[in-house]
Amino acid sequence: MRYAVVSDLHSNLEALEAVLKEVQKEGVDQLLCAGDLVGYGPDPAACLERLRKEGVQSVSGNHDLAAVGQMDLEWFNPYARAAAEWTMNHLPEREKQYLKDLPLIRKEGPVTLAHGSLHEPEQFHYLFDPEEAEPSLKLQETPVAFIGHTHVPRIFIQTEEGISLLDAGSIDLDPRSKYLVNVGSVGQPRDRDPRAAWCLYDEKAQHLEIRRVDYPIAQTQAKMRKARLPEFLIERLAYGY
Ligand code: ZN
Repeated sequence: MRYAVVSDLHSNLEALEAVLKEVQKEGVDQLLCAGDLVGYGPDPAACLERLRKEGVQSVSGNHDLAAVGQMDLEWFNPYARAAAEWTMNHLPEREKQYLKDLPLIRKEGPVTLAHGSLHEPEQFHYLFDPEEAEPSLKLQETPVAFIGHTHVPRIFIQTEEGISLLDAGSIDLDPRSKYLVNVGSVGQPRDRDPRAAWCLYDEKAQHLEIRRVDYPIAQTQAKMRKARLPEFLIERLAYGY
């Protein structure tokens, strides 16, 4: 099986379309998503429709729960809160039901999916360092697991010696190791690279890589301005932070 894994699309349709175009070229068997399908961006309903058309298997993120009233907005900064409220008002009931039905953890063959972490997935922990990744790797039963949430791609590798960290890129998998992979963000990257991120995982070839793809950022920004979403959220797309 060849998997394409995306995360943190955040209602950014232009970024999603650019990624799906690359995914189609690769002849992928299954599209997986590590959550935060909506929030921040201007096209929540269109993104959900597009993802379903691709037969995506997804988990839910904190912004997805916020958009359906299942997460206290007190946890959000004012920009995220404004965007969550906007999203709530622009999602048809059918799309809200789809988000409500998403699980927090999902296993698909050799893969586990969660938004922030495999341990206490409802807490939406941010995993930046090997120490923070340890409790998740301990629980991880599949050779590979995918997460998002930080919007910063990285690969945690558990070997007999301990946990090491790779700043994204491309890697051949060792069957004796476990891999916890943050696939970065499609719709709002925060690693100072504004291009949309996604991950290609080839199970048979035991190879995994995080790819980046350009998309028409100005188009998304124009839509966000028209929707009166917070200016800070609009500007950050251009510098990827
Ligand atoms: Zn996110």
